[in-house]
Amino acid sequence: MTLTLHRPTRMCVGCRRRFDDGSLMRLVVSNHAVYVSPTSSGRGAWLCAHNESCAEKAVSQGALRRSLRKEITITASDLMTLMRSSMEMKG
Ligand SMILES: [Zn+2]
Repeated sequence: MTLTLHRPTRMCVGCRRRFDDGSLMRLVVSNHAVYVSPTSSGRGAWLCAHNESCAEKAVSQGALRRSLRKEITITASDLMTLMRSSMEMKG
């Protein structure tokens, strides 16, 4: 029996690279609005927490919408604001 010590990885919808989930934030959509939520149920999309160009790409290329499978109207700048405020909450 072998033990694998790999941490779980998630793919960022912006740069499409894999990271362990501590480096990413999880976005969920509720009532057509996007929220950062690490725990809520439902479909989520992962995005690099410290790379605003990933937010830009995720929105401009439609990857965020595809990943969440919902019609969302968030702009890249709104998403960046959301990222910044969620980072501040974490301290
Ligand atoms: Zn990324």
